[in-house]
Amino acid sequence: MQFIIFGSPGVGKGTQAKIISEKLNIPHISTGDILRKAIKDETALGIKAKEIVEKGELVPDKIMGGIIHDRIMDDDCKNGFILDGFPRTLNQAEVLDEILTKINKNNLIVLKLDAKDSVIINRLSSRRGCSNCGAIVNLADLKEGNKCPKCGATGTLFKRKDDEESVIKNRLEIYEKTTAPVLEFYKERNSKVIHIDGSQSVEEVTNAILEQI
Ligand code: AMP
Repeated sequence: MQFIIFGSPGVGKGTQAKIISEKLNIPHISTGDILRKAIKDETALGIKAKEIVEKGELVPDKIMGGIIHDRIMDDDCKNGFILDGFPRTLNQAEVLDEILTKINKNNLIVLKLDAKDSVIINRLSSRRGCSNCGAIVNLADLKEGNKCPKCGATGTLFKRKDDEESVIKNRLEIYEKTTAPVLEFYKERNSKVIHIDGSQSVEEVTNAILEQI
């Protein structure tokens, strides 16, 4: 089955996509992770994307369409996948549609995580990533200083550059203006859209998703 996990930055898409991917044994495709890795590895893509990502702006659709096309064509996507961070524009939704039609996988389920702005801003400003295991953690959940609760490494938790307050504002504006209309695109096409209350705990959100799919 093909899933899109959709919602505002900081609503918990990455956290849930990782869990659902493990539970259903389908790959988690995060375009943000793909871009961050390219930036870290200083590939041609990374060099092009660095400034755009750090400012919280959108990488051009043409580049993103190519990335997603190649990834979906990989062998491990044969039984489905969960897309996180794509599509972010109507144009990207159309590109995805073309790819899925070509490979006969148009039966998409959209998991829409909902949460109030105050919850989202709070989560984004206290979000940290672990450079050792890739876990996404919230400062409020740390029990032992700067130690990753998932892998136990110390000193590996970092704040994403685009989680700085000035950039968060830009990302939320872009989401409202450019990305939110993508949900209407799927509703108009009668795709299955499941709304989940993303302000609940991680476990509660996961359970709500699993109950409904
Ligand atoms: P994310 O981890 O999904 O929040 O993505 C981090 C950043 O990567 C975004 O703020 C954008 O700069 C870039 N990005 C990720 N996915 C896309 C996409 N589908 N289209 C354009 N830019 C993207």
